[in-house]
Amino acid sequence: MRGYVPGEQPRGGQVVKLNTNENPYPPAPGVIAAVAACASADLRLYPDPTATALREAAARQYRLSPEQVLVGNGSDELLTIVMRALVGPGDVVVYPEPTYSLYDTLVTIQEGRSLTIPFPADFTVPPALLDADGRVTVICNPNSPSGTFTPIEVIEELARERAGLVVVDEAYVDFAPTNALPLLARYDNVLVLRTFSKSFSLAGMRIGLAFGAPALLAELAKVKDSYNVSRIAIAAGVAALEDYAWMERNVARIVATRARLSEGLRARGYEVLPSATNFVFARRPGEDQGPIQTALRDRGVLVRHFAGPRLGDALRISVGTDEEVERLLSELPAR
Ligand code: PMP
Repeated sequence: MRGYVPGEQPRGGQVVKLNTNENPYPPAPGVIAAVAACASADLRLYPDPTATALREAAARQYRLSPEQVLVGNGSDELLTIVMRALVGPGDVVVYPEPTYSLYDTLVTIQEGRSLTIPFPADFTVPPALLDADGRVTVICNPNSPSGTFTPIEVIEELARERAGLVVVDEAYVDFAPTNALPLLARYDNVLVLRTFSKSFSLAGMRIGLAFGAPALLAELAKVKDSYNVSRIAIAAGVAALEDYAWMERNVARIVATRARLSEGLRARGYEVLPSATNFVFARRPGEDQGPIQTALRDRGVLVRHFAGPRLGDALRISVGTDEEVERLLSELPAR
């Protein structure tokens, strides 16, 4: 099989890193203090296998019960747990495409079958998605790499029509207008995944949350590693939720810079899809973006290039600080 290929993580050097959708702002001061406080002899002890403190903090923040929360080593691990628990040889997993390419890798590992429904050019939900059926349906909302947002009513329709599980990957939802959490009160077959890697500036810490029905989460927990989240990550996650306003302030700054970046790209001849995330997806019709990515790289600016029959040919550019975005726009080769 082909493995999942993560975006480039340069080692050292002065680069403007706009290729893997990290947050340009630091995590909350309370998070740094909580991590420092963890550096003690207690590290000889295993962490709480169910990360109770973090589940309780998340339950308070999102008005759920701790039994409706499962903690993962990043939301990537939660996706792995879902596939491991639910997908066996030949089982069908449905998702619109193009989307986060890890889904395909995880289904392949399980010897399952991906039933992919192509998005149209504007990335609205393809009607065929509602007709397709599978053991699991994954909808990345907002979607990567397009950045586009699917209205929650469409996801609700999916949940209503489906016998199988509907996984809503909300890695980027804090940058979007709304989210799918209200569906949990009405549908037992909805699982919402969140990450601390983007809005909370904690990609290096590896924390993800799954929200869903307690009976479902109890089954998923059976296939997770016993100690999947470290003591340090649990403490960091709790502290991050305790300063929710810090995250919201950074999100507001990123959303403002996103508008500036989109405008700057349009002024340079790019078509930019409306983004509900911390990145934008931009194409210059008729132009191969591969050489543009390479030229930017040579000038110290990392972005991600996507190309393929369904993707067209595009750059995905993370929203950095205003200064980073200015630098990108000034280094961008003219047509
Ligand atoms: N879902 C999507 C759509 C993503 O882009 C990412 C980040 N690559 C993840 C999940 C995983 O995030 P993490 O494992 O850092 O929580």
